[in-house]
Amino acid sequence: MPTIEVARGDITREHVDAIVTAANEFLMGGSGVDGAIHLAAGPRLATAGNRLAPCHPGDAKTTPAFDLSPRVTHVIHTVGPVWSGGTDGEPETLASCYRRCLEEADRVSATSIAFPAISTGVYGYPPAEAAEIAVTTLRATPTQVILIRLVAFDEATHALLTDALGREP
Ligand code: ADP
Repeated sequence: MPTIEVARGDITREHVDAIVTAANEFLMGGSGVDGAIHLAAGPRLATAGNRLAPCHPGDAKTTPAFDLSPRVTHVIHTVGPVWSGGTDGEPETLASCYRRCLEEADRVSATSIAFPAISTGVYGYPPAEAAEIAVTTLRATPTQVILIRLVAFDEATHALLTDALGREP
């Protein structure tokens, strides 16, 4: 069972084996957290991502981390659901993102991983529900990963993730 921690800050500063980005299907960079990760990793990240595209919602693909901190070896690109009311399979797709990222981490032997709050920015997923899905899915997925860090950019997300983690499994 991995340790799950909640942290507050910029995910590009995380010292873990793998950093997850909330990408779009083209894997060539976007806004929000994906923009920050592409800026920090340098232009080779978009080139490598493009080779693996398209990545469908709920799936994840892995590239090297290029110019991110030398401690970070991989970027795991996952595409979250765009929120359209919740009846279009959004919860299942979001859960699949977290599961697939752990599978990818296992595949490349990453034992520590940092996640942003996937889909809760421009994709519009309600943050409380998203935090609950993140925690319950990560707890339920068998993995070799030892440390999972849920990195919140803002205080509200940090509080929601902390609450979700505090609830009994
Ligand atoms: P999506 O398109 O999946 O909604 P966004 O990047 O718009 O992705 O937002 C996802 C989450 O990432 C939001 O909670 C946003 O505040 C957060 N975020 C944005 N920049 C960073 C960053 N540098 N580090 C960590 N989280 C970030």
